[in-house]
Amino acid sequence: MKEAIKKSEVLIEALPYIKSFFKKVVVIKYGGAAVDESGINRSVLEDIVFMNYAGMKPILVHGGGPLISKLMNKAGIEPRFIAGRRVTDRESIYIIDKALHSINLQIVKTLKGLGTKAFGLSGRENGLIKVKKLKSEVDLGFVGEVKSVDATVVRQLIDDNIIPVIYPLGIGRDRNLYNVNADDVASEIAVALKAEKFVLLTNVRGVMKDKDDPKTLYNTLTVRGVNKLIKDKVIYGGMMPKVSSCVNAIKGGVKKAHILDAGIPHALLLEMFTDKGIGTEIVK
Ligand code: ADP
Ligand code: MG
Repeated sequence: MKEAIKKSEVLIEALPYIKSFFKKVVVIKYGGAAVDESGINRSVLEDIVFMNYAGMKPILVHGGGPLISKLMNKAGIEPRFIAGRRVTDRESIYIIDKALHSINLQIVKTLKGLGTKAFGLSGRENGLIKVKKLKSEVDLGFVGEVKSVDATVVRQLIDDNIIPVIYPLGIGRDRNLYNVNADDVASEIAVALKAEKFVLLTNVRGVMKDKDDPKTLYNTLTVRGVNKLIKDKVIYGGMMPKVSSCVNAIKGGVKKAHILDAGIPHALLLEMFTDKGIGTEIVK
């Protein structure tokens, strides 16, 4: 009996959250580092299906880090990253396209198997994201940054209760295909669709003072706090595009941004529907 009452308490605790997120857009980015050949963690997709049936409008953006690196190694290309971004030559871009496309198919298939409608697309479809070559001190090759977003198709999908599953490739004005960091793409889509929440699922607990010690997790960071941690080199590598995409989302009007560990079972549900925050939230 006690057990049963506990369960009802958990459900009722979720009610105010379900109410406040009803019909609201939530953009979720699922980290490359947490994705492999078999697609992505099923519990994450179950959470997204739950959100969908609870009346929210989740949008999923995914990367494909380890699989891409594996396929590049196979082709004799050494994966290289500069400030968290993958150096991408002409051959790599085709490998990346192939890897992301196959992950995308897997995710869409699993979501459908869980009983929702889902539709896979890349940033190059219907001018979803227009990109330009990312300027940086060292030439990164075909690495783009988002110039503009045309979210018409994505808006149509969520209006029809279909979960958009997006991977981050885009076309430049030079007609070349560019690889864009999935954090950046997700953030721009969140801004374009005036999302209520922006959630980055990755392979660490959140932003930590010592990235190998979960006890040093920052529960809440402000935009100023983030900038200081970058300056002090506490945040580096793959965490850099992550925090800057959170800051971009917040500045663009998204209410809250979160960085969570995809390895915690049902991390999304815990963050969305209970009083207890896990991971790092970034606020204005
Ligand atoms: P994803 O594939 O989810 O985008 P990334 O590998 O690009 O993941 O970025 C996450 C990585 O950022 C972590 O695994 C960690 O190595 C690194 N990192 C750098 N600084 C920090 C920090 N201060 N706190 C946590 N992780 C950090
Ligand atoms: Mg990354």
